[in-house]
Amino acid sequence: MNLVDFTNRFSSESACEEHLIALRWPSGFCCPKCGSRNAMRVQAAHRRNAVNRVPLFECKDCHRQTSVTSGTIFHKSQTPLTKWFVAIYLVANDKGGIAATTLERALGVSYPIACLMLRKIRIAMADRNAKYRLEGIVQVDDFYLGGESEGKRGRGTDQAPVVTGVSMKKGKPEYLFMDLVNDLSKHSVLEVLSGRLTKGVILETDGWPTYASCAEDLGVQSHLITRSRDGNKNETFQWLDKAISNFKKFIDGTYHGRQLDDQLYMEEYTYRYNRRNFGHRLV
Ligand SMILES: [Zn+2]
Repeated sequence: MNLVDFTNRFSSESACEEHLIALRWPSGFCCPKCGSRNAMRVQAAHRRNAVNRVPLFECKDCHRQTSVTSGTIFHKSQTPLTKWFVAIYLVANDKGGIAATTLERALGVSYPIACLMLRKIRIAMADRNAKYRLEGIVQVDDFYLGGESEGKRGRGTDQAPVVTGVSMKKGKPEYLFMDLVNDLSKHSVLEVLSGRLTKGVILETDGWPTYASCAEDLGVQSHLITRSRDGNKNETFQWLDKAISNFKKFIDGTYHGRQLDDQLYMEEYTYRYNRRNFGHRLV
């Protein structure tokens, strides 16, 4: 769907609300408290202010009121849903990642609101990313943000270390994760890997002892090692290396004075990477 079709389709608050209702409750409203399907829509006239503007359902059994935006990034936002929807469209369709200043101009919102919206959209992406675990063959490596990691691992740098991995299928990359860590201690690396990998993966690394030690703790199926001196390391890890260098371009190209939200930028980048074949469905 192009932007014109999209804005036509979601041209009013009620069109956005109905879309959210259909997404959240595809087979009809269901009370989150008691599970009853016996509910009524509360009319707009009965609602007190703009925050309550989105449709409320009242359960006829337990009388719990549920807004369609409760538990979503839109909840209690004073920004119209029509603007939120366009923001999501723009984020989904801009491969380089959209800047807050661009969003500010496109939506006619203030700069702080544009930043807040982007942040919330990225948090939603992070939530979704956290639901998945990589399986099969997973290549894992680490890098430093804003510099070269070669030969510096674990010490001698004040840059932020990142643990990253990609699952491979028939020699091609599938799914990617990136996690900012405080340090490259075994504790930090293990915490990332146990959160991102399924049990019984085949781990592939450059043989750094910390990975070997983590592999043991994780109970991986096997641990494949390609060392730098083996000569084919660049070829083996070409996809992961490419993902890392593209991420660095992504973060340098769009964002300035970032740091605070580095992890969220990684979440946006990996979210998009893992859905690179979605086309227009991404939105
Ligand atoms: Zn109920």
